[in-house]
Amino acid sequence: MQYLRNLKDSISTLPKVGPSATKCYSEMGIFTFSDLLSLSPRAWEDRSMIHALGELEDGMTANTLVEVVAHSYFGPKFSNKRTLKILVKDVSQKGYGRLSLVCFGRNFLEKTLKVGHIYYLYGTVSRHMGELQCSQFEMTPATEDGDFPDSFGKILPIYPLKGTLSQRIIRRDVLAILSKVDRFEEELPLSIRTKHSLLSFDEALRIWHFPPSLSSHDHARKTLAFSELFYLQLVARRRNVSLARGTSQGPSTPTKLELKFIEDLPFPLTADQMTVLKEIRKDLDSEQAMNRLLQGDVGSGKTLVAWISSLHVLSTGAQVAFMAPTELLSRQHAESAARLLEPLGIRIAFLTGSVKGKERKLLLQAIAKGNVDIIIGTHALFSKEVSFKNLRYVIIDEQHRFGVEQRLALLQKAEVPDLLLMTATPIPRTLSLTVFGNLNVSTIRTMPPQRVPIVTHLVSEGSRERMYKAISVEFKRGHQAYFVYPRIDDTGESNLRDVTNMFEFLKEHYPQVPSALIHSKLDEEEKMAILKNYQEGKLQYLVSTSVVEVGIDIPNATCMVIEHADRFGLSALHQLRGRVGRSHLQSYCFLVFGNDLTDDAKQRLKVMKESNDGFYIAEQDLVIRGPGEITGTRQSGFLRLHYASLSEDLDLIEQARKEADRILLTDPAFLTEDNSVIRRTLSESSPFEEENQEVF
Ligand code: ADP
Ligand code: MG
Repeated sequence: MQYLRNLKDSISTLPKVGPSATKCYSEMGIFTFSDLLSLSPRAWEDRSMIHALGELEDGMTANTLVEVVAHSYFGPKFSNKRTLKILVKDVSQKGYGRLSLVCFGRNFLEKTLKVGHIYYLYGTVSRHMGELQCSQFEMTPATEDGDFPDSFGKILPIYPLKGTLSQRIIRRDVLAILSKVDRFEEELPLSIRTKHSLLSFDEALRIWHFPPSLSSHDHARKTLAFSELFYLQLVARRRNVSLARGTSQGPSTPTKLELKFIEDLPFPLTADQMTVLKEIRKDLDSEQAMNRLLQGDVGSGKTLVAWISSLHVLSTGAQVAFMAPTELLSRQHAESAARLLEPLGIRIAFLTGSVKGKERKLLLQAIAKGNVDIIIGTHALFSKEVSFKNLRYVIIDEQHRFGVEQRLALLQKAEVPDLLLMTATPIPRTLSLTVFGNLNVSTIRTMPPQRVPIVTHLVSEGSRERMYKAISVEFKRGHQAYFVYPRIDDTGESNLRDVTNMFEFLKEHYPQVPSALIHSKLDEEEKMAILKNYQEGKLQYLVSTSVVEVGIDIPNATCMVIEHADRFGLSALHQLRGRVGRSHLQSYCFLVFGNDLTDDAKQRLKVMKESNDGFYIAEQDLVIRGPGEITGTRQSGFLRLHYASLSEDLDLIEQARKEADRILLTDPAFLTEDNSVIRRTLSESSPFEEENQEVF
């Protein structure tokens, strides 16, 4: 008996997997046996029925037993460009009819497909001048005992492919692993399986890859998806259900520290900021751990809310961790926190992978001793070496950029911390139900006053000059700009504009205007120095890849140029555009597009021109992309679900959640006989452990 997730043998230990296949697998994120068995077929091909040659029409698929009758060659005489043609006849029980296999570039088949021998043939046929032909086919020698070979008489999975991998190779390797395991360990209690008529895990996994009938894989998928959703919610909701934390601290009024901070701000809070602050304070003061999502469009003032709410817990001697997805962004947050909060005596620290050596050691000590109040950083905040003295409150900025594993890892740093997730990209309800148990949502709808809506222009090649002129007017007014391109340098592969060449071009175009080039290959120090100069107005424009996408706050920047805008997704475009329009100044966004736009790209650009509203844009994004990705694709940034679909499985999600809650309430330690599979699964093969801890 084996847990699927515990099959950690390297794929390269399989007998026929060499370095080239190993490499292709690794490009698909497949390293271990478990990874490969978790690869979902994208479709299945029914080869269970014989389709004899005599029954076939143009375009139909042959699936039958044939005998090789003769070899011949066609093409120019006396040249080495001649092509092998193999004549076969049907010898299945229903069989009659003949077919020519045209072997373009595969003359070597003369040696392997021998006259008089019997093979299983699979391939799509066509009719040429009365002759039935097939040029893409699989021929597998018939086995001596008359059994079907592995690829015939069955329903076969079709997997996504990379490089030199073929369906045949992946199927072979999946089968090899499946045959090594006598039985996969069960993960769901019998009572749940019976109630929801689910298969055993072992049956489900095997059927999922090689279903005995085309309808049976639905049943397998339901079983696997249920199990996945059940554990996801069990783990997420365990936080919620069990947790009392001492008595309530009375009414949730702002602390003195908060009031002082708010008074000293150069502007009043918006009504929405005040409302969400009330909601957050109430959670912070309650016995239950906070589990709240703060959503608000880019520039709506979420960060400020985060700082003020931090002050609420700091007055009780607690620590706060603030995590942002990039080094750049977390450093900017750390700087603004230092500016705003240090005058109040709050001790701020900045921790990312780039803080090294002695400095790091001292910092870690200070955090462990409680000599730091707010720790700001990237995912380095929850690497194993960091321990907090009294972490009470965890804030995650741009939460959609983090994987679930990373979030769960940070939560494990504290008994039961309060959790505030901030996002400018509203998340689907299905996701808020699953990943976070039951997430409460606070929303900032209105922008700070005096914000002028950004004007967005769609710019074709022909109107490029006009755009450059408009921007030079902004430069004369002392305003700043971003120019964003999709790539760093010209790799010769495509005609995309790149930052390196465009930087030179723009320097000639705007000879007097100071500028800099910034992209992900620069080291952090360089990037920070450039941004600092930009912030201080010493640089007037940045030529950049999408490193400016997240969070950077430069109110004097009024122009955003995005080239090849059709190549960006809606949420990236909205994030990028959100770098301007951050003050009372009129801002402009120029979306430059090329000639051959896909329909989807046209729609995306239209949405951008029409609206500045992040919620509307997120909705349209879902509409344009259709109802979710197909089962098994990775929902990057959100969550890696192999079988369940967040857009289509709402019913299943709810059923699984009910079961998880029922068990958490009645048997939280999983002590009954029936629930003991849960206890074992969690302790021996937890579905949500900190995998890929350092990478994302
Ligand atoms: P978000 O994180 O939601 O994208 P930020 O918190 O970065 O937004 O805020 C964007 C800008 O708006 C910052 O410069 C911030 O100081 C400013 N800001 C925040 N709240 C207000 C307010 N109530 N009135 C005016 N400006 C505000
Ligand atoms: Mg922000």
